[in-house]
Amino acid sequence: MAKLPIYNSFHPILKQKTDRVEKITDDIKQLVTDMFETMYDTKRGVGLAANQVGKNLSIVVIDVREVKGLEDTAPMVLINPIIKKYSEEKEFCEEGCLSIPVLYEEVERSSEITIEYTDINGTIITREASGFLARVMQHEVDHLNGITFYDRLSAFRKSLAK
Ligand code: ZN
Repeated sequence: MAKLPIYNSFHPILKQKTDRVEKITDDIKQLVTDMFETMYDTKRGVGLAANQVGKNLSIVVIDVREVKGLEDTAPMVLINPIIKKYSEEKEFCEEGCLSIPVLYEEVERSSEITIEYTDINGTIITREASGFLARVMQHEVDHLNGITFYDRLSAFRKSLAK
């Protein structure tokens, strides 16, 4: 296992769309293990995208068990995730990002989503998520598409953030 460096959002790899994972090799499994270790080491991360550790691949790890009410949610590996459906109902909630260390801002997200992804065993999963978990998934899938939560802020919020 190895802790990986977390890239700052100004790095170009965080502004480009990641590549699909075609095959879950031992290298991919190792990367997933390292991503979990890297996230746990931050003590505050609940999700991490592969491009945040400099790997241009469509992989996300999520662990929300520290969040009140979500203690029973198993840690997740999302490979090639696609959000198939966004609810029209939206909500604001404060977000932070391991690649933007000092900024916490209210971001508007869909309250419910339907997401499709491949798990670490190669099984294609479709599931619905709501509330905080849906928010984390939207935040992380954004990363895979080269978007940070800063990009989602209104011009007014961006000016405040500066
Ligand atoms: Zn982030």
